[in-house]
Amino acid sequence: MSINASPGFKFEIEKSAENSFARTGTLTTPNGVIETPAFIPVGTKATVKSVLPEAMRELGAQALLSNAYHLYLQPGPEILDAAGGLSKFMNWNGPTFTDSGGFQVLSLGVGFKKVLAMDSKTFRADDVIANNKERLAHVDDEGVTFKSHLNGSMHRFTPEVSMQIQHQIGADVMFAFDECTTLHNTRGYQERAMDRTYAWAIRCLDEHKRLTESRADKPYQALFGVIQGAQYEDLRRKAARDLGSLESSGISFDGFGIGGALDKDSLGTIVQWVNSELPEEKPKHLLGIGAPEDLFVGVESGIDTFDCVLASRIARSSAVYTMTGRYNLTNATYKRDFNPIDSECDCYTCQNYTRAYLNHLFHGKEMIAATLATIHNERFVVRLVDQMRAALKTGQFFDLKAEFMGRFKHKSGQHHD
Ligand SMILES: [Zn+2]
Repeated sequence: MSINASPGFKFEIEKSAENSFARTGTLTTPNGVIETPAFIPVGTKATVKSVLPEAMRELGAQALLSNAYHLYLQPGPEILDAAGGLSKFMNWNGPTFTDSGGFQVLSLGVGFKKVLAMDSKTFRADDVIANNKERLAHVDDEGVTFKSHLNGSMHRFTPEVSMQIQHQIGADVMFAFDECTTLHNTRGYQERAMDRTYAWAIRCLDEHKRLTESRADKPYQALFGVIQGAQYEDLRRKAARDLGSLESSGISFDGFGIGGALDKDSLGTIVQWVNSELPEEKPKHLLGIGAPEDLFVGVESGIDTFDCVLASRIARSSAVYTMTGRYNLTNATYKRDFNPIDSECDCYTCQNYTRAYLNHLFHGKEMIAATLATIHNERFVVRLVDQMRAALKTGQFFDLKAEFMGRFKHKSGQHHD
C-alpha cells in the first residue's frame, strides 16, 4: 500500500506504448472514472460557457476543470461547500478538477495576455510583462498579494489559503499552489520561483493533510503537485525529482501537473524530461494545453489528462475545428453553405445544423451560435483524444498521429482563463 491510502482515488495504467511514454489508464475518483488519456474541458466559473452540463456529458466529456481563483472571487468557496461541492453545485454528474489559482493570480495580476507569449526567442526581463500596465500582483516568499480583476479589491493567496479554497470548492482533483513564470523571466528568476514553488508544495501537502483529516466526512480530494522550470532542462528535471519524491506530513502528491512556460517547439521535449523523473505510476496532467497537434505531442510524451479553454473560447468567436484545420463560420463563403461544420464530425451540432445557419446566428449575435459552435469544438478535442486512447490500445497511435499531422493546419499555444 502506498503512503497515500486515498479512499476513492486511484490510477491504474492499462497499456504502455513501446518506444514512447504514451499509456492508457483509468483514473478513479469519488465522482466517477476517467479513461485516460482524456481531454478535460474547462468550466472556469463552474460552467462551460453557453453549454449545459448534460450536453457536455453527451459530447463525451469525462470531467470538467474549474478555476479556484474565479470561484473564490465569485460566488465564494463557502457557497460551493454549502452546496455539497463543485459537481453538485453545477449539476455535473462526474469528476471535477480545480486549478490552484496560482496561474490566474499571477497572469491577471501582471497583465499577461490570455495566451502566454510562446516565442522564446524574444528578449527576457522580469519586469517586461508589467510595462505600461499597473502591476496587480506581488509575489513574496509567503504568497501572492493581488488585486481582483472584478472590482479592484485586494486579496492574498498563500499555499494554505489555496488549499482551504480548493477543499471548500470540493473538486476530485486539486493542484498545489505554484508560482507560474513565463518565458520572459530571467534564468535567475526561474530558479527563485522554482525554490518558492518547492517550499509552497510542502506547505500545500501539510495543509491538505490537515484539511483532509478535519473534513473526513467529505469525499477524498486528490492533490497534484505542479512542475515548473520553464525551458531549462536542469530546472525541469530537478523540479520533477524534488516534487516526485516529496513527502510531508506522511503523504505525497497523488499526481502531477506540468505547468508554466512551455515553448511550443520544445513542448514534447520538456514533458519527456519531466516524465523521465516523475514516478511512472502516478497520473500526469498538462495544464492549459489543448491545441489539437499539441495533444498528440502530450500523449506521446506521457500525459494522461489535459485541460484547455481554447476550444470553447475560439468557438465563441466563431472559429471551429475540422480535421484539416480551423476556419471562421462568419466568412461570407458560408452564407449559403448547407453542409455541417465538419462532415466527419458526429456532434449534435453537425448532425442537425448547417454552416449557413451558424453563419446567420453569428452575424445576428444570437446566443445559440456560441452554444452550437462550442458543442462542436469540445466534441472535436474530446473525440480526438478518445481516438488517441483507442489507437494506443491497438498499437496504432503513430499511424493516427501521422494521418492527423498530415491534414491539420497548425496553430497553437497555451491557453488558460
Ligand atoms: Zn461537430
